[in-house]
Amino acid sequence: MVDVLAPDALGPTVCVGEILVEIVATTVGDGFLAAQPLVGPYPSGAPAIFISQCGRIGGQAAMVGAVGRDDFGRVNLDRLMRDGVDVSAIATDPEFPTGSAFVRYRADGARDFVYNIATSAAARFGWSAEVEALVARAGHLHVMGTALSMKSAVAVIDRAVDIIKARGGTLSVDPNLRKELVLDAATERRFEALVSSADLLLPSGEELERAAGVDGEAAAIASLFRRGVGEIVLKRGAAGATCFGRDGSRIEAPAFVVEERDPTGAGDCFGGAYVACRRLGLPPEQALAYASAAGARNVTRVGPMEGAGTRAELDAFIASTERRA
Ligand code: ATP
Ligand code: MG
Repeated sequence: MVDVLAPDALGPTVCVGEILVEIVATTVGDGFLAAQPLVGPYPSGAPAIFISQCGRIGGQAAMVGAVGRDDFGRVNLDRLMRDGVDVSAIATDPEFPTGSAFVRYRADGARDFVYNIATSAAARFGWSAEVEALVARAGHLHVMGTALSMKSAVAVIDRAVDIIKARGGTLSVDPNLRKELVLDAATERRFEALVSSADLLLPSGEELERAAGVDGEAAAIASLFRRGVGEIVLKRGAAGATCFGRDGSRIEAPAFVVEERDPTGAGDCFGGAYVACRRLGLPPEQALAYASAAGARNVTRVGPMEGAGTRAELDAFIASTERRA
């Protein structure tokens, strides 16, 4: 398979969107109506999880978003810096607090949330001198479908795509949109345009059909390649992942056998590792192995990005962990 992504040397992978802390209930049950034990704050937000894993594995990485001038903001900035992520384009809001999400798992695996995102610093950023300087030297943009419902993220993504593509950079998209989700007409058009210009698409389960607008896995894949997508990696949770190439190639990556303690962030870690590895020149087989290891390792730890791994940690994980048949 060809190199579908711009090389790491062209400039950092940029991800745009919400930066949060997550506070996790330590018991299983229904929601937050009574006092209960909690653990956190953990750094979080899907785009932040993605970029953290991208940096940890050794890819050039940078984040666009905002935090408040508070400890929750510090938790995020410190973690991203530790992971080697460029935080120059993360704004610090003088007025609004860092975004937060309280999460509690129910017995059936469903989750209850109490969020403060839309009215927090997480949603208050935009095109700034720092963002412009970063985008001017970026090599790749990763877009999360969920970011498209955030005005501030859309304002940055719309401009960044054209600038990064014009300098030879590439685009990856994690649709991250449930199949049933109906977007307003303008957002749907933006989503379709981003999918069509994606060099790499990273859907999970039925998001593949949602992104293609076509039912059936094979038909959806064929339709996306006709629209110009370069490579598609389908995530299937504990059932593994599959990489589809434009040339008809198909590589299966069985999942690692792990004890799942907190599934949050698996897909984002998987994506961060996959994009970084492909940009560092690894072939799909190897990138898939690191991505699967990053996703699997992350579910073994409580906290959305606590299991993200360095290349050495993922090598050790791969060497010591069985894969499903
Ligand atoms: P998220 O829930 O974070 O949005 P996602 O739906 O985008 O995740 P998943 O398919 O759940 O993505 O996970 C991505 C990858 O991580 C999988 O393809 C698999 O390789 C690995 N993974 C996820 N969950 C498990 C698990 N329980 N055991 C082993 N590997 C897993
Ligand atoms: Mg997902």
